[in-house]
Parts: sequence; structure tokens; C-alpha cells
Amino acid sequence: GKLSDTGQIVSFTAQLGNKVRQRRQLLMELRDALKNEELLLYYQPIFALGECQSLVGFEALIRWNHPSRGLLEPQDFIPAAEDGGLIGQIGDWVLEEALSALKRLHQANESVDRPYLSVNIAAAQFLQPNFAKRLYQLMRDADIECSALTLEITESVALVDTVRTAAVLGLIRQWGVRTSLDDFGTGYSSLSYLKNLPFDTLKIDKSFVQTMSDRRCRSIVRAILDIADNLELNVVAEGIETAEQCETMRLMGAQSGQGYLFGRPMSEKSALTLLKNDLLS
Ligand code: C2E
Ligand code: CA
Ligand code: CA
Ligand code: CA
Repeated sequence: GKLSDTGQIVSFTAQLGNKVRQRRQLLMELRDALKNEELLLYYQPIFALGECQSLVGFEALIRWNHPSRGLLEPQDFIPAAEDGGLIGQIGDWVLEEALSALKRLHQANESVDRPYLSVNIAAAQFLQPNFAKRLYQLMRDADIECSALTLEITESVALVDTVRTAAVLGLIRQWGVRTSLDDFGTGYSSLSYLKNLPFDTLKIDKSFVQTMSDRRCRSIVRAILDIADNLELNVVAEGIETAEQCETMRLMGAQSGQGYLFGRPMSEKSALTLLKNDLLS
């Protein structure tokens, strides 16, 4: 009846008010987090899927060691940071921290095949007018080989401004930085982006990798790998959890894989240990 409708509206409005308050609170805490060094990076290993599965790189994944709520995952705060205008600052921190970690990883590995580090860049961060300049400064200060850094962006970036995206990608690739199209297959008209944007790598989303037992899904993945091969793109299969998924992706021609089968996102210390052990084997 009428009364309960009104009641629902009142409680809906109250809930909305709560949400707004919660988000405002979260943003305030996030600003403090930057100052108080509560943010940290985890590193998930990426392996070559060939005959000898060697460690080729890591993806940096952000975490927030919240003073009362414990370790938070990106889904708990990155969307708020994007909406609230904090993603630029956080992204800067991520890049700076990732570059200094990369330096330490390289010092642990004196061999020729040094691992690369892949860093996620949010659309709003990538499209900031000074993004390329900031990146250039950070790379120069860190004094590391540009080719050891990969930037992962999703096609949502291209959706906002394709021309600008192509220009920025082209520029940073000239320096030698690698570019990767993340979450491939989950967005809109991916194929045209692939053709028009300068990427080195394509990451097949875990939703495909994990449903490979489905025949139709398998044929989509086969088509993606075929296109990638034609465009001379390197393919990383995400979310590999089982030996079977690994073998299927390898047989289909994906060059690299990432997922719980190989290792979960881990602390820098564990990443260094993994790297040293990989050198011995
Ligand atoms: P993503 O870039 O697709 O990262 C991969 C996500 O898949 C990670 O979640 C990782 O922990 C998870 N994952 C890896 N292997 C497996 C597996 O075998 N099975 C399953 N079920 N999951 C797996 P995480 O760390 O929670 O990150 C979530 C998302 O947050 C990332 O998705 C990325 O879009 C975003 N993100 C993470 N770090 C950053 C950052 O520094 N900056 C920005 N802008 N976004 C970030
Ligand atoms: Ca997660
Ligand atoms: Ca990613
Ligand atoms: Ca991804």
C-alpha cells in the first residue's frame, strides 16, 4: 500500500545519504593513507607458457593496509578514488613505488633476462594532460630501462578519447615502454581498438580463460589468439588456476600466463625470493 511505498522511499533516501557519507569518509581516509604510507603493492608473477615455464615478469597490484579494516583490495577503494579525483595522486604513487621495486628486482637478478613489471593505469590517470610528462620524469629519476616497464590500460581509455590515447601510447612506446591492453574481451568494440592503437601485449580476461571447457568460448579465444598472432601481439592469459587451463592456453598459442596456479599476488619480499629461486632452477 501507499504507506509502505513512502516508507521504502524514505529508507532508500536514507541509504543513499549513508552511501554518500561513507564515500566521503573513505576519500578522507584515502588522502590520509597516501600521507601515512598505508598503501602498498603486491606482485603477481607472470610465466612463459613454453616448454620451460620461466618467470618473465610481475604485475603490480595495489593494496591498502587500512588502520582499522585491515588489508583492502583495489575494488574497495579504486572506484572511489577514480570518482573522487584522487586517482592521479594514487597513480603517481603506484608508478613511483613500482619503479623503485623494479630496480630492486633487477638487482636481485643479474642475468640477461630481467623480469618486467606491469603497472595498471586507470583511464582518468592516463588521460590527464600531464601524464606522459610525469611518467617521463619518474622514469628518468628512477634510472631504469624503459623496456622493463609495461603499462596496462583497459579499452575504456580509448572509449573516452581514441585519438589522444593513440598519441600518448605512441609517445611512450617511442621511449621503449611497453603497452598492454588489459581485460581484453570484456568491453565494447575491442577489435577496432586493436587495429588502431599501438599495443605490444593483449591480456585475455580470466572470464574467458576460466570457461574454456565451453566450446563456444574456446572458439572465441582461438579467434582472439589468431588476431593477436596476425597483429604480432604478445598474449598473456589471465586467471589460470588449473594445469588444464594452462595446457589449453599453451596449446592455443598464448605466450604467457598469470594466475593462482603460478602464484597469488605476493609481497615484494616473496617476489624477490621467487625470482632468486627461479634463477637457480
Ligand atoms: P586486473 O588488472 O585484471 O588484475 C588481475 C586481478 O585478478 C587481480 O585482482 C588478481 O589478484 C586477480 N587474479 C589473478 N590471478 C587470478 C586467478 O587465478 N583467479 C582469480 N579468480 N583471480 C586472479 P586484484 O588484485 O583484486 O585487482 C583487481 C583490479 O584492481 C585489477 O584487475 C585492476 O583493474 C585494479 N588495480 C589493481 N591495482 C591497481 C593499481 O595500482 N592502479 C589501478 N588504477 N588499478 C589497479
Ligand atoms: Ca581480488
Ligand atoms: Ca591488470
Ligand atoms: Ca586484467
